[in-house]
Amino acid sequence: MGQDHATGAGVRPRARWSPTRHRAWGFLAAGALVLSACTGGSDASSGADGGGDGGADGYPNATITIVVPFSAGGPTDTVTRLIAEPMSAELGQQIVVQNVEGAGGTVAAGEVAAAEPDGYTVLMHHIGMSTAPTLYPDLPYDPLEDFKTIGLVTEVPMTIIANNDFEPNTLEELVAYVTENEDTVTYANAGIGAASHLCGLLFQSAVGVTLTEVPYEGTGPALTDLVGGQVDFMCDQTTNTTGQIQAGEVKAYAVTTPERVANLPDVPTTEEGGLAEVQFGVWHGLYVPAETPDDVVAALTAALQVALKDQNVIDQLADLGAAPVAEDRATPEAHTELLQSQIDLWRPIIEEAGVTAS
Ligand code: ASP
Repeated sequence: MGQDHATGAGVRPRARWSPTRHRAWGFLAAGALVLSACTGGSDASSGADGGGDGGADGYPNATITIVVPFSAGGPTDTVTRLIAEPMSAELGQQIVVQNVEGAGGTVAAGEVAAAEPDGYTVLMHHIGMSTAPTLYPDLPYDPLEDFKTIGLVTEVPMTIIANNDFEPNTLEELVAYVTENEDTVTYANAGIGAASHLCGLLFQSAVGVTLTEVPYEGTGPALTDLVGGQVDFMCDQTTNTTGQIQAGEVKAYAVTTPERVANLPDVPTTEEGGLAEVQFGVWHGLYVPAETPDDVVAALTAALQVALKDQNVIDQLADLGAAPVAEDRATPEAHTELLQSQIDLWRPIIEEAGVTAS
């Protein structure tokens, strides 16, 4: 488990594009349908400054931990640290971010499901929350039964990127190269059920290859290895890859969205590169253990909604090719509805693909 470096706080066990711009939900569903063809550390986010009203019935009166299921410095971590600061100010309490890596995010989710349901342990997770029940037959929690949703946070496009010395220079060349070199090409992911894994499945399904996948505890360290040449290529969120693409530290073959991403204007879409089937976006949301009181959930939702209107959050997400969701999606109702529909959408797709973590 990653430790929060500011406080050492751990998970407390129980005593027992603009999305509108990029039509994100549409492309997410499209990506999922394409898969059906598949056969084959950091510091605390911020200190409280007493800016909020303290939430429901005295809550919060202690430090809140947001658990991130992947490595520090990766895309999920980046989004979490961005929103933690204005949430902290709104709630009038310190929020620390803790990275609990492993098994495509399921280790962290399992720990939060079993944590004290008091609003002081919160989970940030992404699309992997909806695919884990099918990918992991022995999952020790139920995403719908063992959590309450707080609200959706962002929708993030993905990019297909490679080490600069990797031979192919375009998506077409990549397809030809992996087809000819199926046995030697390596693909990085953040574990089974991670967005990078799911996007890789889509790619391999579309191209008709089975590549050697190299798992990491998050795409932060995967990107480091990719830049260093230890692994050839991967598909990851713009919130992790934009800086390296803009700096020319990696080559970018495509964005997995129907339209180009505003701050990566030279990167073609997968459709332009001849792989229209590979369309994929990543939604994120916040969760608490199922028995958390409703007024505590309401306080967290209110703080999330304030954070998503924070100009710094909006600007920084835009710089990374992403955007906060609209306020009516940063609610438990919209979040639960999406989670349920995504579980239903992905289950038959993954079963047909024959992918499991066992
Ligand atoms: N979001 C990344 C993935 O799912 C992992 C990470 O945040 O590090 O691949």
